[in-house]
Amino acid sequence: MISWLNQWDVRALAGLDVWEFSARSLLHPYGRFFLRRMVLQHPWRAWKGFRVYAQTVRPARQPALAPVLVKNEDDFCERAATGPWLLALGFCEKPTDPPCPAGRFNHDCLWLRQDFQAAHSTPLPCQHCRFRELAQHALSAGASLHLMTSAHDIARDILLPGLRHPPWKCLLLCVCPFSVPPISLAMTLCQLPGLVLDYNAGDCQNYHAWLQADNGVKPERTFLTPAAHQRMIAWMNSIAAIRKARGIPQSVCYHLHDHFFHPTPSGNSPPSSPS
Ligand code: SF4
Repeated sequence: MISWLNQWDVRALAGLDVWEFSARSLLHPYGRFFLRRMVLQHPWRAWKGFRVYAQTVRPARQPALAPVLVKNEDDFCERAATGPWLLALGFCEKPTDPPCPAGRFNHDCLWLRQDFQAAHSTPLPCQHCRFRELAQHALSAGASLHLMTSAHDIARDILLPGLRHPPWKCLLLCVCPFSVPPISLAMTLCQLPGLVLDYNAGDCQNYHAWLQADNGVKPERTFLTPAAHQRMIAWMNSIAAIRKARGIPQSVCYHLHDHFFHPTPSGNSPPSSPS
C-alpha cells in the first residue's frame, strides 16, 4: 500500500505529491486535526486549494525553493515590506554542542529575551546560532520570528489563524525537503503566501525520521546551504530597504508573545555582533 502511494507521489497523481505523507499522517493526532479543522470544516475552500496547489504551486517548485502563492522573490519582498510577515525556522537549527541555553524542542530563544542593555556578552552557543544571526536582519525587515516545533503546533499557531483572518502578509519558512510538499499544500489551503526553503544537511530523509523529530527526537542539527543562507539575508535586506524608502519606522527589539517574537519600536536593541 505504502509503495503504491509513493508511486502516486512520484507521478503526482491528480497533481498531488502528498499521498504517502497524508495517509501516514491520518494514523496520528496531528493528521486528524488537520483533516478536521482545515479540510472537513472548509470543504469548498479546501477543494479550491487542492486545485491551486496541483495547477500552480507544485509546478512552480524550484530546486531548494518553493514559492507558494507568490509570483517570484520580488513579489515576496514587496508583500513582506507591507507587513506584518513571519520568518519561521525549525527548532532543529538550534545548536547542540554547546547546546542552546533555551533547550531545544521549544519556541524559545534566551538571546532574544535578554535585556540587551544589561548584557555584556553573547553566550557561546548563541555566537554560532543562525537564528540569532537571522534575527538581526529580520529586525530591520520588520519580521516576526518563530521557532517551529511539531506539526500540530505549526497547524495551530501558523496555519489555522490563516484560515480565519490571516495575521501575516507572507511567510518565509525553512523546512526539510521531505516536508516541503505538505507544508506548501497546507499554506495553499490556508491561503498563506510565501517562500519555503529546504534544509540541505541534517534533514529528515523519511517519514520515520520526520515523525521522531515531530516528537522532539532530532539529534542532528539542520543547515541550509551557505548560498541559501545568503539568499535569505539578501531578501531581508531588500525588504528593509523598501521599508526605509517608505519611511516605515525601524523596530529595535523583540518581545515574546504566544510562541512568537514580535518586533517592537522601543526598548533595548540587540547587539549588532557577538562579543
Ligand atoms: S540565539 Fe540560538 S542558541 Fe542562543 S538562545 Fe537563541 S536559539 Fe538558543
